[in-house]
Amino acid sequence: MICWKCQNDINEFDNYCKYCGAGQGKHIPMYYKHIGIILLFFIIGPFNLYFVWRSPALKKPAKIIYTIIFLALTVWFCYKTYLLFLQAQEMISSFPTNLMF
Ligand SMILES: [Zn+2]
Repeated sequence: MICWKCQNDINEFDNYCKYCGAGQGKHIPMYYKHIGIILLFFIIGPFNLYFVWRSPALKKPAKIIYTIIFLALTVWFCYKTYLLFLQAQEMISSFPTNLMF
């Protein structure tokens, strides 16, 4: 078996690489697994793509799909924030006239 991190040859049943200490199989860090990657998106946004592409637990098609989904969500979120900003601006500019009535 080849370690996903340092590419050294390690024992098939090793839980951790004896060269670099990286967890193997079930012991791969949480932030490289599906659930960790999705949780990361809510914390650091599209920067989680760094972990998506480094992840040894995800296959190439999964990485591509995640990239498309996370980028689409980011664009959608920015658009929604922009609309909110416009709405807030409108409310602020109409505020003094509201006071008169
Ligand atoms: Zn290693």
